[in-house]
Amino acid sequence: MNKIKSYASKSANQPLEPYQLDRREPNETDVEIKILFCGVCHSDIHTVRDEWGGTMYPVVPGHEIVGTVTRIGSKVNRFKVGDTVGVGCFVDSCGHCHNCEENNEQYCENGHSQTYNSLLQDKKTITYGGYSSHIVVTEKFVLSISDKLPLEKVAPLLCAGITTYSPLKHWNVKAGDKLAVVGLGGLGHMAVKIAVSMGVEVTVLSHSPGKEKDALNLGAHHFELTNVKENMVKMANTFDFIIDTVSAPHDYNDYLALLSTNGVMILLGVPPTPSEVQAFHLIGGRRSLVGSLVGGIKETQEMLDYCAEHNITSDVEMINIDQINEAYERTLAGDVHYRFVIDMASLK
Ligand code: NAP
Ligand code: ZN
Repeated sequence: MNKIKSYASKSANQPLEPYQLDRREPNETDVEIKILFCGVCHSDIHTVRDEWGGTMYPVVPGHEIVGTVTRIGSKVNRFKVGDTVGVGCFVDSCGHCHNCEENNEQYCENGHSQTYNSLLQDKKTITYGGYSSHIVVTEKFVLSISDKLPLEKVAPLLCAGITTYSPLKHWNVKAGDKLAVVGLGGLGHMAVKIAVSMGVEVTVLSHSPGKEKDALNLGAHHFELTNVKENMVKMANTFDFIIDTVSAPHDYNDYLALLSTNGVMILLGVPPTPSEVQAFHLIGGRRSLVGSLVGGIKETQEMLDYCAEHNITSDVEMINIDQINEAYERTLAGDVHYRFVIDMASLK
């Protein structure tokens, strides 16, 4: 075991604070990574505050990790010491169920191991995430990162990037399709950038008037406020697809009504409480309400390579680790442009 530095929360109502963590020694298939940057996802906040239930304290969040390989096990052959690598939302899975065999480890039928607040495949060892100096991950779940793009802006691709790329590919959202992105935050701004790069016509639906200029600068073609009733009425039956990234409870029915015939609304945001859906909104117009969870490892590598090729990165605000509690408050207030990223060199 190695004793390393991290930031953890010890209960739902306590701030994050310095915490000494035990990391395993790398075994023969493991890669040890010195973490350079870690993005701050809203899922970190839901988990730290136990909004979804089931948080195991102390919890060390963080699943948008970019770093440098410091040690490798004897059987590791895809990476060497000094390589730049990434780790996303999960760090292992059973490897033999139908979904793992199809490269959809995030839907592992035997339960995938998330990067934090989860159990490794021994179903005993708790995982701890990227708000820490190092992480040890089995080779198969480590991603290659191009040195072409600024690494701090690449970190959010490991969750916000793949979570928005994967459904765009799965539902074959293509050039000319009309897509609404609901919520312009970490996920939302990546959905805009990636969809625009694919030639999709993108409208941002936001409850924050101050974000219009940013939305258009990010490449969105239109911006509409959702809290103005006439806007919602005027957009009825408009969109082929809606990507909903909102983290707080909201009424799905208001958005389903904006889908055209056969339109698909894709839930990415996970509000802590359920929402009722009126069947008429689905039946009238043969609409679908679906969801999507991050993306598999193969697809995450494909997304990273796509973003390197198309020069797509996240808009980030850099923070030191001791500003993390303030960053959570600002994220909750919608005051982030558009992803906080922790400079892990500040973890002393
Ligand atoms: P974020 O940066 O905080 O963005 C969420 C956005 O939701 C805000 O920017 C805001 O956009 C909108 N919003 C927030 N509160 C609202 C309210 N009360 N009413 C209406 N809109 C509100 O969060 P994120 O990191 O993008 O994560 C978004 C959600 O996705 C979270 O629930 C997270 O847990 C989930 N998530 C899911 C997956 C997955 O695999 N499906 C992966 C990662 C994260 P406007 O100001 O533009 O309205
Ligand atoms: Zn995330």
